[in-house]
Amino acid sequence: MKERQIYVDYNATTPLKDEVKAAMISDLDIYGNASSMHAAGRCARARVEEARAAVGRLVGAPAGSIIFSSGGSESNNTVFHTARQLASGADGSPLKEGRRKFVVTTAEHPCVLNSAEFAKKLGFSVDFIPVDEYGKVKIDALKAVLSAETLLVSIMMANNEIGTVQDIKEISRLVKGVGAFMHTDAVQAVGKIPVNVEDLGVDYMTMSAHKIYGPKGVGALYVKKGAPLFPLINGGHQEDGLRAGTYNNVGILGLGVAADLAAKDLDEYQRRTSQLRTRLMSGLQANIPNIKVNGHPVDVLPNTLNVSFPGAEGEAILLSMDIAGIQASTGSACASGSLEPSHVLMAIGAGAEMAHGSIRFSLGWGTSEEDVDYIIETLPPIIKRLRSMSTVVAA
Ligand SMILES: *Cc1c(COP(=O)(O)O)cnc(C)c1O
Repeated sequence: MKERQIYVDYNATTPLKDEVKAAMISDLDIYGNASSMHAAGRCARARVEEARAAVGRLVGAPAGSIIFSSGGSESNNTVFHTARQLASGADGSPLKEGRRKFVVTTAEHPCVLNSAEFAKKLGFSVDFIPVDEYGKVKIDALKAVLSAETLLVSIMMANNEIGTVQDIKEISRLVKGVGAFMHTDAVQAVGKIPVNVEDLGVDYMTMSAHKIYGPKGVGALYVKKGAPLFPLINGGHQEDGLRAGTYNNVGILGLGVAADLAAKDLDEYQRRTSQLRTRLMSGLQANIPNIKVNGHPVDVLPNTLNVSFPGAEGEAILLSMDIAGIQASTGSACASGSLEPSHVLMAIGAGAEMAHGSIRFSLGWGTSEEDVDYIIETLPPIIKRLRSMSTVVAA
């Protein structure tokens, strides 16, 4: 086995970019509480506000509509919390014109799916609408459930497992047409494809730093001016009372630097990763019989390649690849460890065997052509061996 380690799991998380790391290290001694009025506080606060402007610039939003959080999961939960509060009239919230219904797709990230499930447990109506075989929202199914009772629609911009990119602009138009609120989880889209909140027409949008070469444990939520927000974390007056807790100023600074770099390097990122993705896809197709590429053929993230290897089991492929120094994923990191097949692959109708035998390669700035060629060279014998001793029960 070669000693090299090839990390192709950038949709699970990314390493810090050098510039992000350097900026964070130099800020570790900025100890002031960003809410304090004195010089030390103002110094910390100025950097927080610079980061807010940078995140806003990356997605075409005014700085004032960006709220910092602990990450994508918290941002998504805050939106669902807000909608549940609105729908229940709790906390003195006005019932929004009797609207109580939620809409999500069956291919959402677990933090959205489970937030929707929680709303359901509380007695709200939730429609889990289907996606097609490529992972695209079935627009007719969406239209069929939208009504004057719809309160919140939450549909991810790009899928973390298969990379399919939704037409959020068109979806927002339909959602706004019935007067509901539109949220998109854009954690996997930001920094990979152009994202502009004005153009998309969304009310809420979720972002996370560690998927764009920033630090873990920090993220942001875009809240359109005038859209309601109820804090998930009550306490001090930080973020206009919408998210309490002393500022994670070094993390926020890291997110700001990562956002600026993502904006600056977007074209180069797309060019680079999509070329590597094509190389990997054709290499695997040419060297391994009977495989299937999952996700949309065109509207797909430039860095994400999800492939089914029927007859071989995903976890076994993963372990064999890990021994050979290749670090990929069977789908969502949040779902791994469970023996259930990927809910996203099931949502696109892949069937249990295809879903159990799927691998997600997610490429990034650290991926080279040599890495891709090594995968193309290493994987065929692994698949061949696993298929020959297959114990997968055909679906
Ligand atoms: C990673 C991810 C999240 C969660 O973000 P965290 O910052 O890790 O909480 C949410 N949605 C999607 C699509 C993701 O890929």
